Amino acid sequence: MPLKIVDGWIKNIKQIKSPYYNDRPEDQPISLLVIHNISLPPKQYGGPYVEQLFTGKLDPNAHPYFAEIYQLQVSSHLFIRRDGEIIQFVPFDKRAWHAGKSIFAGKENCNDFSIGIEIEGCDTENFTEIQYQQLAIVTKLLQQTYLIKHITGHSDIAPTRKTDPGPYFDWQYYRSLINHHKQIDLMTTQLRLIRDELQRLTLWQPSPPVAEAFLSEQPFALDTMQPYEWLQWIFIPRMQALIDANAELPKFALHPYFEEAFKQQEIDVNDLLALIKQLDELSTNQRVSD
Ligand SMILES: [Zn+2]
Repeated sequence: MPLKIVDGWIKNIKQIKSPYYNDRPEDQPISLLVIHNISLPPKQYGGPYVEQLFTGKLDPNAHPYFAEIYQLQVSSHLFIRRDGEIIQFVPFDKRAWHAGKSIFAGKENCNDFSIGIEIEGCDTENFTEIQYQQLAIVTKLLQQTYLIKHITGHSDIAPTRKTDPGPYFDWQYYRSLINHHKQIDLMTTQLRLIRDELQRLTLWQPSPPVAEAFLSEQPFALDTMQPYEWLQWIFIPRMQALIDANAELPKFALHPYFEEAFKQQEIDVNDLLALIKQLDELSTNQRVSD
């Protein structure tokens, strides 16, 4: 089920309210994501201690390290566990206390205008695949909801104090996942526009061609289907299945065939051809621009 933000909280994930937050300054809209790592005790995973720290309930006697930190008043908006579980502590419209003394692009106090995401981990070990997947999903959700202009690491905004998310956090992979999500969104929209245009041209059919037509081994099933039939009954469903499976999308070039095939069309297919050309471009765009 796609995640949704209501009143600053992601619906249907675990919520543990932290007392450590306050209002954001009114002139500081959310514009930054800050990625962190944390594990308590350091390099140990799965325990309840991060939740306890962010809610002021850490027992100083439970571990020698805790005696040093249990009085810290810290929190983050989100915490992503090794198994991908996402926990929210502070609503996004409030200011969580994750960055401390910090500066980004000349602006101090990054807590004022950022959302903090803690990934369960440390500076000396890889993060898990599901953590990257979940991080990319929440990043997309936050980008859709707030005007996020930049994503950075804690070590970039507090370089003398902090090292997280550390050298094992794979920024390149994270950014490739964000791009993949963007490409999928753009592709979904483009396929919808093509369907709408086919409907407008009354080329969208209520029922499929005969079963044998699907057995064609020709490209575009050109011996058994009209070009628009192939779009509707083969290409679009196939793309939709890949999108639903969150799979890598293929690169393709449909426009040359359609331009040729539509030469004899009586109706005006220029808009449709333009949409198909854009679709080709989306498929070959490795990096979808911001
Ligand atoms: Zn941090």
